[in-house]
Amino acid sequence: MVATKPLQKTDAIIVVGAGIFGLSTALHLGLRGYKNVTVFDRQPYDDTKYEYTAGADSASSDNYKIIRSGYGSEKVYQDLSTEAIQHWNSWNEEILSGECVPDGMTRSDKVFINNGHLSLTDKDDLPEFEKATIQNMEAAGQPNTQLVTTDPGQVDIADRKGLGFAIDPFQRRAKGKGYLGVLDTTGGVAVAHKACRFALHKARLLGVHFVLDPHSGAVESFCYDAGGKVNGVQMKDGKKRHASKVVVACGGWTPSILPVLDGICETTAGSVILIKIPPDSALYERLAPERFPSWAWNMRDGKLGGLYGFPRDENGYLKIGYRGTKYTNPKVQEDGKERSVPVTRYTAEETITQVPQQAMKVFKSFILEYFPDLAENGIDIELTRLCWYTDSFDNHYVVDNIPGQDSLMVATGGSGHAFKYLPNVGKWVVDIIEGVGVKRDLVKHWRWRTLQSGEKPFNVLQEGSSGPRALRNVEMSTDKDLKLSAQSRL
Ligand SMILES: Cc1cc2nc3c(=O)[nH]c(=O)nc-3n(C[C@H](O)[C@H](O)[C@H](O)COP(=O)(O)OP(=O)(O)OC[C@H]3O[C@@H](n4cnc5c(N)ncnc54)[C@H](O)[C@@H]3O)c2cc1C
Repeated sequence: MVATKPLQKTDAIIVVGAGIFGLSTALHLGLRGYKNVTVFDRQPYDDTKYEYTAGADSASSDNYKIIRSGYGSEKVYQDLSTEAIQHWNSWNEEILSGECVPDGMTRSDKVFINNGHLSLTDKDDLPEFEKATIQNMEAAGQPNTQLVTTDPGQVDIADRKGLGFAIDPFQRRAKGKGYLGVLDTTGGVAVAHKACRFALHKARLLGVHFVLDPHSGAVESFCYDAGGKVNGVQMKDGKKRHASKVVVACGGWTPSILPVLDGICETTAGSVILIKIPPDSALYERLAPERFPSWAWNMRDGKLGGLYGFPRDENGYLKIGYRGTKYTNPKVQEDGKERSVPVTRYTAEETITQVPQQAMKVFKSFILEYFPDLAENGIDIELTRLCWYTDSFDNHYVVDNIPGQDSLMVATGGSGHAFKYLPNVGKWVVDIIEGVGVKRDLVKHWRWRTLQSGEKPFNVLQEGSSGPRALRNVEMSTDKDLKLSAQSRL
């Protein structure tokens, strides 16, 4: 890590990207007393309000995201979750008290719903990951928070916590089917779009300036001083914005703007379906967030597993995601090298409105087994989405200065699990900017690094356009696949 020149509280700081990494960084810069912070994003979030269906196209723009403490043997993220959940609860309190309520939200809105997170398996024994979580949460002084769904004593505890509904939300026991899993009673869902709006509003109240616009908010390149040091950004509207520190938090767009991340991070896509539950359907009440948890199923079982989902949201959308295979979209860039770049229904150059057939098959097979009531009620998939984020080779985030620069920093590599840290990850980013607590394990994990020879990557990166996960090499689903009535098992 390059030694960081101490910043003055009045120095100009630019944050590029208003997803969770950028928002949280800006918020904590404001809380720490920095007076000249500007966040640039090319997405007009004041208009779209971080809602995917309104055109917001970042990983952070969503209806719900999972909040959980369970991290297997990765205690560092478990502890980070514990810290985050305290913040999530106090954010709910700030809204309820009327202390901080963004325009368009009311005091009855919540950004975190503690309806539990259920990790299900179709095996006869719990996966090692869950066993490690149970042990580590107990060791951390949080006993009886990770409850085994088939243990009557633990089911009683869930009942007493008001989370009995989350033990068997797919109602499998009554059908004589397996429902083994672990209910994380500390978890539930983040109401993602509202949480982002809340963080943005809170940062604005602290004096952070936001430029959210496709031209004046879009960063095209970096500006350098005579010594080759980054001293600002060049915007799409031609303007140069100067700063003592530039923090790049562009999510799935980060590796293209910072090619130096080659080998550390790659942009990959998770597949998502949205099913609209009509308000007059009996399922509408059953799937309400007060009565249905967030869930994951066979999460670490390769391409035939990796599903997760949510209750329906206030607009009736029931979201299910698949990341058994993480897809890529490699394109040759200006330097002649291939890098994966996001492609969605909203991207300018090229659009995509379907998900890969493999993902669709896993969705439908799961729905047939766990959610037969959807097809029985004539409910089909309404919308599909590819959601892009950055995977790092070791699944840890990357929060550090770019080698050779002390004014250019990156905060990315969310690797599909960073949303839950919206309230607190920025505190860590600002610590890193200030050189505070650099010996903490997480800070060390997030340092600039490369895959060492002989090291087995957690995520295999950069297989290129001939790789099996490249979208151009996979069969895509079609509109016909949106029908749930025409389902088949894998
Ligand atoms: C399908 C899916 C499901 C997930 N589920 C969960 C979950 O349940 N729980 C959880 O904790 N995490 C989850 N994650 C992970 C989480 O969503 C991400 O880790 C997190 O949102 C990433 O935030 P970010 O700020 O890095 O990127 P983003 O949210 O993508 O934000 C990047 C921002 O940078 C902006 N930008 C890009 N380029 C430029 C430029 N040149 N100029 C200006 N602005 C620019 C973009 O417009 C965007 O607003 C999920 C991710 C995906 C894809």
